[in-house]
Amino acid sequence: MKILVAVKRVIDYNVQIRVKEDGSGVNTDNVKMSTNPPDDNAIEEAVKLKESGKAKEIIAVTIGGEKAQETLRKALAVGADRAIHVKSDNYIEPLGIAKILKKIVEKEKPDLVFLGKQAIDDDCNQTGQMLAGLLSWPQGTFVSKILHKDNAIEVTRETDEGLETIEINLPAIITCDLRLNEPRFSSLPNIMKAKKKPVEQLNAKDLGVDIANRIQQIKVEEPPKRKGGIKVSSVAELVSKLKNEAKVI
Ligand code: AMP
Repeated sequence: MKILVAVKRVIDYNVQIRVKEDGSGVNTDNVKMSTNPPDDNAIEEAVKLKESGKAKEIIAVTIGGEKAQETLRKALAVGADRAIHVKSDNYIEPLGIAKILKKIVEKEKPDLVFLGKQAIDDDCNQTGQMLAGLLSWPQGTFVSKILHKDNAIEVTRETDEGLETIEINLPAIITCDLRLNEPRFSSLPNIMKAKKKPVEQLNAKDLGVDIANRIQQIKVEEPPKRKGGIKVSSVAELVSKLKNEAKVI
């Protein structure tokens, strides 16, 4: 089995996001960047399938600027066999990313494509679903458990109503939830070995797909500041404040 894993470079989840003064976006200058957290789960799951003998090859793919290579090197250090860097210095919307990934899928013919359930920068939660639609492949989204069967996989999905278990035929698209596994840290020898693994370079513009953005971002602003809380001395005081000041009961 061949697994393609899409990994995105995003602002690290611990960073305090700063909105640019002109409201045109968020500041990324000198800001720590990392792999999108659920994409770490996606790589981890692919590596586990390889370790259990169910997968033969893992290919990591990213679409982004020069520095997106760091994300690929991390995936290679954790256990991906090779990587594909589709270069683009501009932000590409999920539909454009899905079209690029479709091209890579047609070339590589994987049995499974793993993605994160959502990118923490744009919070779109669209790319996996769009890729499944473009390929007409079955999909399992928000996946927190995977059981491999012959020519099919059983996946457990995290939904608002609880856990849903479905069986899907291969080839398939899987979007990974943070509960899927515990991503491992890469060891120093593996980080060194990863430097020698092959990274294919492609240019987004040369793939023959329409990646023009369709959404116009009007403004980015910080959420309104929250007022500080207060301590009340009794339940009676709390009820009185909720009734007379907040007017919520
Ligand atoms: P989104 O639909 O933007 O929330 O992203 C969902 C998932 O799609 C991410 O967790 C990644 O696995 C994948 N993805 C999105 N953008 C990229 C990108 N530029 N390069 C590689 N993978 C991406």
